[in-house]
Amino acid sequence: MMGPRDLKVNGSRLRQALEAMAGIGATPGGGVQRLTLTDEDKRARDLFVTWLRELDLEITIDEMGNIFGRRPGKNDELAPVMSGSHIDSQPKGGRFDGILGVMGALEVMRTLCENKITTERPIVIVDWTNEEGSRFAPAMVASGVWAGALDRDWVYDRRDINGRRFEDELERISYKGSVPCRKFPVHVYFEYHIEQGPILEREGKRIGAPKGIVCLHWYDVYLEGEANQVGPTPMAGRHDALCGAAEMILKVNDLPDRMGGNMVATVGEIQNHPNSRNIIPDNVHFTVDIRSWDDDLALRAWEAVRRDFESIAERRGCPIRIEETWRVAHSPFDERRVQEVLAVATELGYPCLPMVSGAGHDASYMNQVASTAMIFVPSIGGRSHVEVEQTSWEDCEAGANVLLHCMLRSANER
Ligand SMILES: [Zn+2]
Repeated sequence: MMGPRDLKVNGSRLRQALEAMAGIGATPGGGVQRLTLTDEDKRARDLFVTWLRELDLEITIDEMGNIFGRRPGKNDELAPVMSGSHIDSQPKGGRFDGILGVMGALEVMRTLCENKITTERPIVIVDWTNEEGSRFAPAMVASGVWAGALDRDWVYDRRDINGRRFEDELERISYKGSVPCRKFPVHVYFEYHIEQGPILEREGKRIGAPKGIVCLHWYDVYLEGEANQVGPTPMAGRHDALCGAAEMILKVNDLPDRMGGNMVATVGEIQNHPNSRNIIPDNVHFTVDIRSWDDDLALRAWEAVRRDFESIAERRGCPIRIEETWRVAHSPFDERRVQEVLAVATELGYPCLPMVSGAGHDASYMNQVASTAMIFVPSIGGRSHVEVEQTSWEDCEAGANVLLHCMLRSANER
């Protein structure tokens, strides 16, 4: 069996693949806007599928638009080793989030093919549809349906801000496959991803091995006010929905301090109606995102802030409606695989660090089905989901080498 020092990925080929993908949906600010199920998503998928064909992989597209490329093993009946991530991006997102994990797994496939290495088990590369959840909420829906955690038809009916349905858009870009989106046995799932935080850079490490992913709780809040002309309407007795929302947003921001635990809480999206400078706002929608390694703490925090919301709404005479949109429990990875990532990185001479993932990933749902681990590389300045998102090419290559040898090891396990 080849050891880490005998076999490496081709870093410049990986870079070329990433640069080609960065050209699809490129933004003037140096980022990428490739929202799920848009024309840009379709073009990137088409290119990805072309590359899978060149490697003679067996390609499957399921009814959620997930794309799988399978490379047979010597013992093809065994459960495959799987790796991948997502091709879609945030609005004005970065050039590495998601796509690095897909191109990294592709580079592993290319390396195996050109070296004519056949593994004991089959290997599967995957692109999961709509990981981001910014066009169609929530996030990670396709791995969620695959894992049996989300209902396919519920996801099909999700709508974007313009009222377009998920399923219709999937059909429009010709990626609604006929294969059922349903879990199949997977030996190990590895997801390679940028860290999206500042820790690896700060600690001077090249590879991060998260012990798992924090819980993710999403809520949608709708406030109703009373519209009126801003000039003649006295301040007293107003029902200003935007002012109510403003108070609530600050309560969310205060939550982590108040709960005294390890958590983050964010309001990232708001819609204000009618959004006119001379009308008192009568309809506001905003989102709440709460994350923690401690699920109970996150739930207690939500209960506390929900009570605040209700009393603010009552005091301002603004009826409130709350939707509990999405909850994913914290997800501790397979300890043995996490150790393997650290061991492989060390063998390759890359300084590495055990950590926690504060971002959600498809690996969260995969972890419900199969033994799962992730490989992180540093994000320069800790910035992600923005156009300036950056990771050095050397680090991209290093992470792909770790992925290669983690996959090789587990794919040769009987
Ligand atoms: Zn991502």
